Amino acid sequence: MKPRVRLLILNAALGPLDYSVPETLVVEPGSVVIAPLGPRKVQGIVWDEGRLPGADAPAAKLRPIVEVVPVPPLAQPLRRLIEWTADYYCAPLASVARMVLSSGGAIGGPSTTTEYRLSGGAPERMTAQRAAAIEALDSEQATIRELAEIAGVSEGVLRGLVNQGVIEPVTVAIDRPYPPADPDHHQPALSADQLRVAKTLVRAVEDGEYAPFLLDGVTGSGKTETYFEPIAQAIRLGRQVLVLLPEIALTENFLTRFEERFGAPPVLWHSSLKSTERRRAWRAISEGSAQVVVGARSALFLPYAKLGLIVVDEAHEISFKQDDGVRYNARDVSVMRARFEGMPVILASATPALESLHMATSGIYKKLDLPSRFGGAQLPDIKLVDLTVEKPGAGRWLAQPLVLGIEERLARGEQSLLFLNRRGYAPLTLCRTCGHRFKCPNCSAWLVEHRLSSRLACHHCGFEGPVPHECPECGEKDALVACGPGVERIADEVGELFPEARVAIATSDTLNSPDKAAEFLETVQNKAIDVIVGTQLVTKGFHFPELTLVGVVDADLGLEGGDLRAAERTYQQVAQVAGRAGRGSKPGEVLIQTRHTDAPVIAALANGDRDAFYAAETDARRDAGAPPFGRWASIILSSEDDREARLAANRLGDTRPRADDLYILGPAPAPMAMLRGRYRYRFLINARRTANLQETIRRWLDAHDFPPGVRVGVDVDPYSFV
Ligand code: ADP
Ligand code: ZN
Repeated sequence: MKPRVRLLILNAALGPLDYSVPETLVVEPGSVVIAPLGPRKVQGIVWDEGRLPGADAPAAKLRPIVEVVPVPPLAQPLRRLIEWTADYYCAPLASVARMVLSSGGAIGGPSTTTEYRLSGGAPERMTAQRAAAIEALDSEQATIRELAEIAGVSEGVLRGLVNQGVIEPVTVAIDRPYPPADPDHHQPALSADQLRVAKTLVRAVEDGEYAPFLLDGVTGSGKTETYFEPIAQAIRLGRQVLVLLPEIALTENFLTRFEERFGAPPVLWHSSLKSTERRRAWRAISEGSAQVVVGARSALFLPYAKLGLIVVDEAHEISFKQDDGVRYNARDVSVMRARFEGMPVILASATPALESLHMATSGIYKKLDLPSRFGGAQLPDIKLVDLTVEKPGAGRWLAQPLVLGIEERLARGEQSLLFLNRRGYAPLTLCRTCGHRFKCPNCSAWLVEHRLSSRLACHHCGFEGPVPHECPECGEKDALVACGPGVERIADEVGELFPEARVAIATSDTLNSPDKAAEFLETVQNKAIDVIVGTQLVTKGFHFPELTLVGVVDADLGLEGGDLRAAERTYQQVAQVAGRAGRGSKPGEVLIQTRHTDAPVIAALANGDRDAFYAAETDARRDAGAPPFGRWASIILSSEDDREARLAANRLGDTRPRADDLYILGPAPAPMAMLRGRYRYRFLINARRTANLQETIRRWLDAHDFPPGVRVGVDVDPYSFV
């Protein structure tokens, strides 16, 4: 009898399937294989016997596997992680497994690519353009498209030079090795605090056992320098390291510091890698030659051959939570991965999530503290600006103390940062004559005016259109007014107040690529910018020694909407952005504009009393049965047809499970009742920690057949409540 295997097929619509293994092939659990399915071929992973549900198909019916993909089999701890993630987040196993084998190109695809470089020859006819291109391409080697960008000419010009032999093709192996990082390249002298923490972490790497750490260090304490030491030790021991960063815009700063410390860049992993880079990285990761991988949350599921340490930097960041597909939280899954693999994991933050702190006080995570800034820099002085007293003029948003603060910095040649977590010019546009408001046609959301690009845009679905000259409702010309401020409007205000000031806007619209982020960093560092106006993008990671004033334009903004984590998020954002001030030798000042000077979170910020804030927040969460004391999950049913969605939700509601340790709210129209053209109805489940939340949800949903137009999204431990 031929051996049989059960495959996890990488298609969420298909369950596990059984196949036979021809004598010519050797497989083991974790092998990635190609198997026939009807007339097609599908990719699958050989799974451990007895761990995937399903009846055994009769041996006579089994079709043979076609091919074993030549990549290392997924190791057992990773297979357990895939199972755990699917189970915990109520997601299909196949969807989780797809995150591991993330890109078709990584596995199949060609192993070489063609790049181009100057051959040394001269063109038949030299033109000014050609001469300039040849000069610009000196010692460059890249694809034609990339070279065209470097030289600032069209691809056609370069192809002409290729035809004349001036530029020559070179075949490069995509899977060529990365330059090695040297753990002893440049080790800085650590402060006593840093040394104490680093020693503990280095020992944990040497021990090679599961050990979760919460690295709790104030902004500017040098958390990065400190966790570089256990990274160095892992490299010395020949183990791989994964560093997760919340935002790709932050990597530039990280890369520079990494290169200074280790003499070579780390391996990058994020969604905008080219397919050749993706393949190269994936292979190096799975073979173990990629020593340190720095990436966005998706890097967590890669098949590291010999992982020895995981670092989650800015671990409190909500961008670690994925909000579509498999709705996982990379911070929490990191800890699970460390547990399955048996290794330390470091969650680093100046403003840890309440959940993480709770784990530390419960003794589950070991807490390591860096209580002061490196090099004797002082934490900034924080003051409140009461907007009910200091009222900015009509159509203005900066109160007098903040204006004076900026003026002082300009006079001293120092820099200021104004923080407002709103992209664009104004969050709402309406018609003065008839009151018409510009709404997204696909979402329950206002369109945001972006004056820099003269567009009205929806921040939820990407819809955008030109700003009209007349009201589409009443036809009145030039009657549209912008309501409320966005960063562009604040930048305008600064420009009107201080025409000589050099102002830069820093948002995901303006810093939308690593190159632009790098350019921005450089201009700020070169003091070519006086005032930065930015969203949450500038709240963390950046280190600008000349920045001595931080102004929080509207600290109350995040408190609106009343979501479970509103207070915590406000605390984190304001504390993080405040942490940008006074990081060099000059002291920093922070001015927080608010209408609620006595709100607990605002008062805690003003007094620098973090413990008071966390204590109050802990009590509030305990009373509400919210995390970490209780758990939440949401189920959203959506359809392009409102009636269909509503009926499906009502039918599901009719069979709601009843239990003592959880209760279910809904169905009700979701706060965002329409999103990307789909009508949404929501259930919210609040459970005690003792409840078997996932099992309850699975049983409840499995008993239902939903119409094909209805999508069901389950979010366990949700961050978004819209
Ligand atoms: P955090 O991430 O904790 O806010 P950083 O890691 O950004 O702090 O460190 C703040 C600044 O101090 C950085 O410019 C960093 O390079 C510097 N720094 C920290 N520790 C050291 C050290 N041991 N030697 C030299 N510079 C350090
Ligand atoms: Zn929209």
